[in-house]
Amino acid sequence: MEDCIFCKIINGDFGTEFVLENEYAVVFNDINPKAPVHMLVVPRVHAASLNEVEDKNLLGELMMTVKQAAAKAGLKSYKTLINTGKEAGQEVFHLHIHVMGEKK
Ligand code: 5GP
Ligand code: ZN
Repeated sequence: MEDCIFCKIINGDFGTEFVLENEYAVVFNDINPKAPVHMLVVPRVHAASLNEVEDKNLLGELMMTVKQAAAKAGLKSYKTLINTGKEAGQEVFHLHIHVMGEKK
């Protein structure tokens, strides 16, 4: 989608390094990390928020990608977060799952 920063990142416009990528999602580090490891799992298809997604297979694949990203980053324990809507703190209106933790 035009003017969507995450679509541009997925498209490679900024040369952002991906922690991992698969058919459904890309994973990259948050530019403003709130934890020692702070990744974003982002679906390749544009959806403004969780409320816009009806595809159960995609939602399952995103959660599988969370686990793969955590394992790849060496996280055994981690938090996941999805902000949905401005009042909840969503700033980028392309669905993403925060994955935050610390390697121990
Ligand atoms: P939200 O508040 O929408 O749930 O989270 C958006 C997240 O995207 C924030 O944690 C913010 O730091 C991150 N972010 C915003 N712009 C960029 C960017 O251009 N590159 C990366 N890597 N992260 C970004
Ligand atoms: Zn987008």
